[in-house]
Amino acid sequence: MTSAPEAIRFPYVEVPESAQALRREVRTFLAEERASGSFEPACDCWADFSEAMSKKLGARGWLGMTWPKVHGGQERSLIERWVVTEELLAAGAPVGAHWIADRQSGPQILRYGTDEQRRFFLPQIARGECYFAIGMSEPGAGSDLSSARTVGEKVEGGWKITGQKVWTTWAHRAHYAITFCRTSPQEKDRHAGFSQFIVDLKAPGVTIRPIVNLSGEHHFNEIYLDGVFVPDSRVLGEIGGGWQQLMSELALERSGPERFLSPYPLLNAFAESATPDNDAALGSMLAEVFTLRQMSRSVAGQLMTGRLPNVEAALVKDVGNAYEQRMQDIVREAQTSAAGLQAGDALQRHFECAVMRSPSFTLRGGTSEVLRGVVARALGLR
Ligand SMILES: Cc1cc2nc3c(=O)[nH]c(=O)nc-3n(C[C@H](O)[C@H](O)[C@H](O)COP(=O)(O)OP(=O)(O)OC[C@H]3O[C@@H](n4cnc5c(N)ncnc54)[C@H](O)[C@@H]3O)c2cc1C
Repeated sequence: MTSAPEAIRFPYVEVPESAQALRREVRTFLAEERASGSFEPACDCWADFSEAMSKKLGARGWLGMTWPKVHGGQERSLIERWVVTEELLAAGAPVGAHWIADRQSGPQILRYGTDEQRRFFLPQIARGECYFAIGMSEPGAGSDLSSARTVGEKVEGGWKITGQKVWTTWAHRAHYAITFCRTSPQEKDRHAGFSQFIVDLKAPGVTIRPIVNLSGEHHFNEIYLDGVFVPDSRVLGEIGGGWQQLMSELALERSGPERFLSPYPLLNAFAESATPDNDAALGSMLAEVFTLRQMSRSVAGQLMTGRLPNVEAALVKDVGNAYEQRMQDIVREAQTSAAGLQAGDALQRHFECAVMRSPSFTLRGGTSEVLRGVVARALGLR
């Protein structure tokens, strides 16, 4: 059955001078860090974990930027945060340690958490000292999270969590995971009866097993939860309100510039080594990234007005991920017909990294097919 079409909007958003000044500040900081040897630019840098970098960014007030000062934030705008995010990705800085906590777990705690949870977690996250993992996917429940089978059972003083999560990025290095569980039996409404818990990943009953990815790296994991006790004080939001909370978390997860800027260091290296032969290829990539930036900034602007631009975020992620995957093909073709990739140079290094990591781009945070389903529904096509 089809539904009535919704308006899909991308109003233009100006970057104010305060954000431009911040951009220059972040750029200078990152250039100095790079010059001092603190990091080497890498593609997909939000998959690279550096506690030192997260703490430095926290010390500068660039984590939890939009949160109230009383919770360790800076009360800056979402556009300012968007600018900082862009600069970190463009520089290829290792920002994976704090990424999930800053992008989605902290904002979820700010929105749904108790005062005690806000006071306890948010300042630590803003200092770059407390890291979170995402406890959503399970074997048999990735795209369709309403099939989740991990259960929370009420016990004296808290909840006992039993089940399995999978593909959990940084579970082995993070401190906590916001974990999605069924807390009452399935009814007619398959989205009812879910809740979210802040699970301490060092708690008794938590077992974390590595999954090694295509490039031989250990980023994600399986988590086994064997009757893990979570006190009442670590319930996030409403018992039974988990589905609605999850939707708002997914909007945060899908809406940022990391959905089209992951291979930016490759684009940069390609631009630096461009010859007249590959002007056209470079031009088309730059035109696309320019458009995606406007669209992504528009999503940030809409979030600032209180609108939940889920459909626009899904569209940016889908188009952005396709662009990211196409970039390596364009570079490969251009280099084959021109000078060729030189072993050991920056272009070769970023190309290799993009090739190894890019298959995951259209899976993590929601697959292309699922995102297109979201857009199709908004257009009244399904
Ligand atoms: C690098 C990486 C990091 C990740 N990190 C995390 C993490 O930290 N925490 C976490 O919880 N999860 C994480 N994930 C998991 C990710 O969210 C899931 O892989 C994703 O949601 C897809 O779920 P699935 O793997 O179960 O595939 P499935 O849902 O089984 O999908 C299989 C195929 O069927 C298609 N499909 C499914 N449903 C539909 C539909 N309704 N219409 C059309 N096609 C459909 C999909 O597009 C896909 O091609 C990560 C994944 C990757 C690759």
